[in-house]
Amino acid sequence: MALERTFSIVKPDAVAKNLIGAIYQRFEAAGLRIVASKMLHLSKEQAEGFYAEHKERPFFGALVAFMTSGPVMVQVLEGEDAVRKNREIMGATNPKDALAGTLRADYADSIDENAVHGSDAAESAAREIAYFFTDAEVCPRTR
Ligand code: ADP
Ligand code: MG
Repeated sequence: MALERTFSIVKPDAVAKNLIGAIYQRFEAAGLRIVASKMLHLSKEQAEGFYAEHKERPFFGALVAFMTSGPVMVQVLEGEDAVRKNREIMGATNPKDALAGTLRADYADSIDENAVHGSDAAESAAREIAYFFTDAEVCPRTR
């Protein structure tokens, strides 16, 4: 399989718990390379736009409030099968259902505050990367 990119967020709960490095370590240990990264405090408009697919869901307001409650790290991960691999590292949306050793099993407290976001398909990855990063901000490895 060719190199693939995916989009990831370390959510406000995990940033608040000082877990940025621990989470980045999991990505790197799995062979995913961080090719873009920055810290942001999302505006309400940014969070609503990012999660627009969920705007009719009952949890949308709470999700936007959570995602704007503190800074996040946003990053682009590159590697073989990166979208699927990152979802595997993350674990299920509800940490109660997440396999042992996944980020959400280890670091998330609830389905509302579940530590990380990861794109669910190549198409959403491309859209989500472009939502937060310009082409020039993504730096593929040269060595
Ligand atoms: P994932 O983040 O695993 O791709 P979804 O795309 O389904 O999950 O949902 C986006 C985010 O919305 C989840 O990560 C979670 O923070 C929140 N969410 C999803 N379902 C629920 C729910 N039933 N109750 C509360 N929050 C939810
Ligand atoms: Mg999703």
